[in-house]
Amino acid sequence: MNYQSILDSIQKEISSFKNTGKVATYIPELGKVDAHKFGLHLQCVTGEHFALGDAEERFSIQSISKVISLSYALKLAGNSIWQRVDVEPSGDPFNSLVQLEYEKGIPRNPFINAGALVITDILMGHLKKPKEDFLHYVRDIANDQTITYDESVAASEMKHKFRNASLANLMKDFGNLQHNVDDVLDFYFHQCAIAMSCKQLSEAFTIFLNYPKGDHSKQARTLEPILAKRINALMLTCGFYDESGEFAFRVGLPGKSGVGGGIVALHPKQYCIAVWSPPLNAKGNSELGMKVLELFTSRTGISVF
Ligand code: GLU
Repeated sequence: MNYQSILDSIQKEISSFKNTGKVATYIPELGKVDAHKFGLHLQCVTGEHFALGDAEERFSIQSISKVISLSYALKLAGNSIWQRVDVEPSGDPFNSLVQLEYEKGIPRNPFINAGALVITDILMGHLKKPKEDFLHYVRDIANDQTITYDESVAASEMKHKFRNASLANLMKDFGNLQHNVDDVLDFYFHQCAIAMSCKQLSEAFTIFLNYPKGDHSKQARTLEPILAKRINALMLTCGFYDESGEFAFRVGLPGKSGVGGGIVALHPKQYCIAVWSPPLNAKGNSELGMKVLELFTSRTGISVF
């Protein structure tokens, strides 16, 4: 497959793309980013990799971190986590309070904010120094010791914490948070505030590729196949807020987006691809990012379907 010529043709096509999206501003620090940034990185199991634009520029990974946290919690706590968070698509916005009330504080899945707060609480029960330990885990899976938190983004979100604080308080009331609410929020906002590039993200997400032993030098860092299977299933059904169906329909890959404008998607046993374009559509997903990934799976003919 000549990936480079496919990517070049995509870049040409999007040069005239009319982006109607808007950069997220509800976390004021995110609103400072240049809306015209665009990066893409494709990492194949063969070790080949390809890039477009600002592929090495770091941005706020935001909800993409929820996949990394889930993988860490599953490694540390195993299947017990499913007693505290469900595996169903929500069909509601990522920060919705509605379902929590009638589902008695059990979030619908780990990729909505409520679910990620529970996962954060679980991690705190297993880690001595949660923020430090989490950062080490991310650096390890991405094979890059320079990755770090963007403290200004974390502080900016803490200042505007009110909706996430409502979710956390409601779950605390239902008995589904064990730690202090502000400590959980602080750790959660730090996870979201990790700054990574498309290159680093596409490398980190190779742990979900489930490729056969010996195919890749990174085998030691891959997840157990059963965990990769479950997390990929959740990315496919719940990775794009209340637009997860649309993403599966148009792109046909498991993936996860974040309000920083990043999207990571992958084809098990084949490749990881990360794109970044800050303007978001009405559902909170990168408008151009979705378009590019749709073009990619259409032109390569390689999706999971
Ligand atoms: N830190 C953001 C929040 O909790 C993450 C949202 C996202 O990327 O979906 O609102």
